[in-house]
Formats: sequence, structure tokens, C-alpha cells
Amino acid sequence: MYDTIVKRKGNPTHACHPGCVIRCSQVYNDENEEYLTAGFEYETIWAFGAHCKIDNLDAIAKMDRYCDDLGLDTIDMGVAMGVAMEAGILDFEDHKEAVRIFEEEIYKGTPLGRIFAQGAEFLGKAYGVTRIPPVKKQSIPAYDPRAVKGVGVTYATTPMGADHTAGYSVTANILNVGGSVDTLKKEGQIDLSRDLQVATAGVDSTGFCLFTAFAILDNEQALPEIVNMLNAQYGTQLTVADVSELGKNILRWEKAFNKEAGFTKADDRLPEFFDEDYAPHNVDFGFSGAELDSVLDF
Ligand code: SF4
Repeated sequence: MYDTIVKRKGNPTHACHPGCVIRCSQVYNDENEEYLTAGFEYETIWAFGAHCKIDNLDAIAKMDRYCDDLGLDTIDMGVAMGVAMEAGILDFEDHKEAVRIFEEEIYKGTPLGRIFAQGAEFLGKAYGVTRIPPVKKQSIPAYDPRAVKGVGVTYATTPMGADHTAGYSVTANILNVGGSVDTLKKEGQIDLSRDLQVATAGVDSTGFCLFTAFAILDNEQALPEIVNMLNAQYGTQLTVADVSELGKNILRWEKAFNKEAGFTKADDRLPEFFDEDYAPHNVDFGFSGAELDSVLDF
């Protein structure tokens, strides 16, 4: 991907925020060195790529661009494409047909295009697929909740739907950042997900990029310094505890919103098929309703 971007005179490391030193974004050009898409992200590449057995980067980049143009979520549309493959609408690996569905069906608003554009859950139900992976109608991203249990707890319980960024337990489950919690066992996952959901709601509301978390989680001085920066910017007198309470309040408001919108505890669950063991670890998700209800019970 890097070599392709450089060869086509794109930009392999672009900062979407002018002060950013990580620069995880990039600009991807087509074969004629014309701009095709930017911010071509890991989850997008997984959803339209490995998840659909598509290994053609140009096809994935086109679908990313089309989703951006149409205002569609790339994770949900990538999962919708996989569910459509499961339903037999197109074959796994068929990147040409996947691109054609965007260009000839979704853009033109044909009946099939309109079904796709409603997302993975609608499409799966329309075609009678039995394993449809969204929570609160938002598709789960690249981490299987049976083998990465902390993020599974987040998928089930965050008011956002299956949003990995709302409590990215992959940190302690896989990366050993901010501690270590055995990814295949239930112990410690509820506290891990809760703490990360509270911290993320706080950080997200400040305007900081969530990737600051990797600096915060393993450096005791980082969070107090960030709170100092917030106070300098806004003229406030916040403490670290205040930012934590801010995160809790945001989650309380989001839960209250969901309740008014008709969501119940039954929506804070994963789809049933995650109770099936899955290779290679042969574990199921395994959390009870009462355990999931305790996650944001503050
Ligand atoms: S690390 Fe955050 S601010 Fe920096 S380029 Fe990536 S998304 Fe943008």
C-alpha cells in the first residue's frame, strides 16, 4: 500500500489534524495519479478487504470513496457486503461485482442498491441470513468478540452500537497497553470495558484524537498534563476526577437518549450466534445479561 501510494504520487502519511505527529491518515491516488480517496483506514480495509476476501486495494479504495460521497459508514457497508456474499448475492473475492454494486445499484437507487444502503442488518434480514453481526443496527468491526472479550463487552453495552472506539479493550486484551487482561477469559473484562468507555467519552468530548490514549494509558503523568492543557485552553479548573465524571455523565445522557428512542436492555446484547464456539480458540462470548447490565450501571 505504501509503495503504491508513493509510486502514484499520493501521500503515505498525512495529518488530518495540523498538530498531529502520528499522521496515520494518507492520500491514495488512482492509476492516473488522480486523487481517489483519503483517510483510507484500517477498519475500512478490513471490512471491504479480508472480511470479503477482496485483495484488490484499488477496489477497496473506490468503495471507501463511494461511502464517503454517499455518507455511508465504511464498516457497516463492508459488513453489508460480506452479509450479501453470505446470502449468495455475489461471490466472496469478487471485487469487480462489489464495485459494480456501488456504481450501478447503490448510486442509482435501484431496489438492490436501496437494500444495500440500509446497511448490514436490513440486508441480512431481507435475504434471510441467520448470522447478522450488528448491535443496535451498527455492524461490529474487525475484532471477534468471542476471542477479544473486552471489546465484545463494549460492542454489547456502549450506547453507540457496536463501536470499537467507544471502549477499545484491544489495548489490554491484545496490545498489553494500559495493563494486561487475558483476552480469552471473562475475568476483568467488565471493569476494563467500563473504565475505557468512561475515559473515551471524556477524551472524545475534548477534541483530542482518540489515539492520544496510547500515550495516556502507559504514562501516569500524561492524563494530568492533558487536563492541564484543557484548563489552559478553556479557562476551567477541571481535575482528573472531573474528566472521569464528565465521561460518566456523557454515558448517562446517551443511555437516557437511547431509552427515549425505544432501546431496552435487550439491545445491550450481542447477536445469538456469538454463543457458538469459534476456531481457532474455540471460545464463545459467554457473558450473561446480568453481567452486561452491570457494565454502565453507575
Ligand atoms: S492520529 Fe488522530 S489526529 Fe493524527 S492523523 Fe491519525 S486520526 Fe488524525
